[in-house]
Amino acid sequence: MLNPCSMLRSFYKNRFMSSIKKSPEEWRQILTPEQFRILRENGTEKPYTNAYWKVTEEGEYRCAGCASLLFTSQEKFISSCGWPAFTQPATKEIVLRKDDSFGMERIEVKCGTCDGHLGHVFDDGPKPLGTRYCINSASLNFVKK
Ligand code: FE
Repeated sequence: MLNPCSMLRSFYKNRFMSSIKKSPEEWRQILTPEQFRILRENGTEKPYTNAYWKVTEEGEYRCAGCASLLFTSQEKFISSCGWPAFTQPATKEIVLRKDDSFGMERIEVKCGTCDGHLGHVFDDGPKPLGTRYCINSASLNFVKK
């Protein structure tokens, strides 16, 4: 079951660990416009038409901004939401933050290394963990095993 308190504790533990800092101009030089919009401006891509939502091959999902390992195919499941979904991250460097935007109470998922926006985590995932990390494909680079 999702425990927002422990998730927020993990955020506070990690919040000062972001080690890659770049200006928006520097990010624009290394990211595509779509990656920039999502990673640096908290954007969301369209469901069902993004690159990885249906991918089931074995491999690693690395941050499209800084190449840190974020998720692996072992935790991935096909979710009807139309975005890549994972039961848990592959690293403790993921950062969780309360997000009240758009009149919703959600928990935002960020890369702990470059502070890039990845997506949100929800409590309707498969048992036993019950968590669904709903992540934008554009925030990820899939590295096939
Ligand atoms: Fe990153």
